[in-house]
Amino acid sequence: MNAIPTLEVKALHKKFGNNEVLKGIDLIANQGDVISILGSSGSGKSTFLRCINLLEMPNAGDVYVKGELIQMKPLKNGERIPANQKQVEAIRARLAMVFQGFNLWSHMTVLENIIEAPVHVLGMPKKQAIEAAHEYLNKVGLYDRREYYPGHLSGGQQQRAAIARALAVDPEVMLFDEPTSALDPELVGEVLTVMRNLAEEGRTMLVVTHEMAFARDVSNKVMFLHQGLVEEQGAPEQIFTQPKSERFKQFISSVY
Ligand code: ADP
Ligand code: MG
Repeated sequence: MNAIPTLEVKALHKKFGNNEVLKGIDLIANQGDVISILGSSGSGKSTFLRCINLLEMPNAGDVYVKGELIQMKPLKNGERIPANQKQVEAIRARLAMVFQGFNLWSHMTVLENIIEAPVHVLGMPKKQAIEAAHEYLNKVGLYDRREYYPGHLSGGQQQRAAIARALAVDPEVMLFDEPTSALDPELVGEVLTVMRNLAEEGRTMLVVTHEMAFARDVSNKVMFLHQGLVEEQGAPEQIFTQPKSERFKQFISSVY
C-alpha cells in the first residue's frame, strides 16, 4: 500500500491580513476516496478548497497532485504566487471545482458550458468534446436540456450542469463547495443523487457539505474543521457514533 495519493496536502496555512484562517491542514485523498469536510460557517472550509486549486494562494504548505508538487514562489511580503502559470491551468483541470452558486456562464448554453474547458484549455477537437459532453449530460440527466441557457433551468438543473462541466475535463479530484446549499429543499436530492453516483463510480471527491446523511452514508472519510484546524477526523461510522471532540458533538447536534 505505497501507492502515490491522488491528492496530498501538507501543513497548509492561509491568512487574510492578520486573520489566520488555516493553521496547518493536512489531507491525503487516495483514488476513490470521498472526503466530507464539515465545520461551522467561517471555519475555513471554502478557503481550504480554494487553496488546493489555487483560487487562493496558501501562505505556506504544499499540495501534490499524484505526486506532482504545485510550484509556488514566496514573495518578500509573506505571500506566494504560482511559480508556473501553465501548471496552474493544468492543475485546475485536474482538480475541478463545483461551487455553491453554480457559476455557469450565463451567455452560453449548457452544452457550450460543458465543452468550453475541454476545447479551450485541454485543446480537444470540438466534435470529440461534444460527443463526450453528451455522455456527461446523460449521466446528470440533462441531455434534453443541452441547448438551454442556465437562466432557463432550475437551480438543481444548473448545479447538475455544473457537475457535468466539471466532469468534462476528466478531473482526478472533484472539489465540491456546499453544492446543495443554494438550492430549494426539494431540489437537493437530485444533486445528491448525481454525486452519490459519481462516488459509486469511484471518483475521488472532496465535499464541503452540511448534508450529514451524505457525509455519513456516501463518504469514506470525514474531516471536521474548527478555527482553521482539523478538530476531528475519521471514518464516518466511527466519528458519528463515537465523536471525541465536544465541539464536534455540538456541531452534529446543531445540524441534525
Ligand atoms: P467557511 O467556508 O468555512 O464558511 P471561509 O473559508 O469562507 O469559511 O472563511 C473563513 C474565514 O476567512 C472567514 O473569517 C472569512 O471572513 C475569511 N475570508 C475568506 N475569504 C476571504 C477573503 N477573500 N478575504 C478576506 N477574508 C476572507
Ligand atoms: Mg464556505
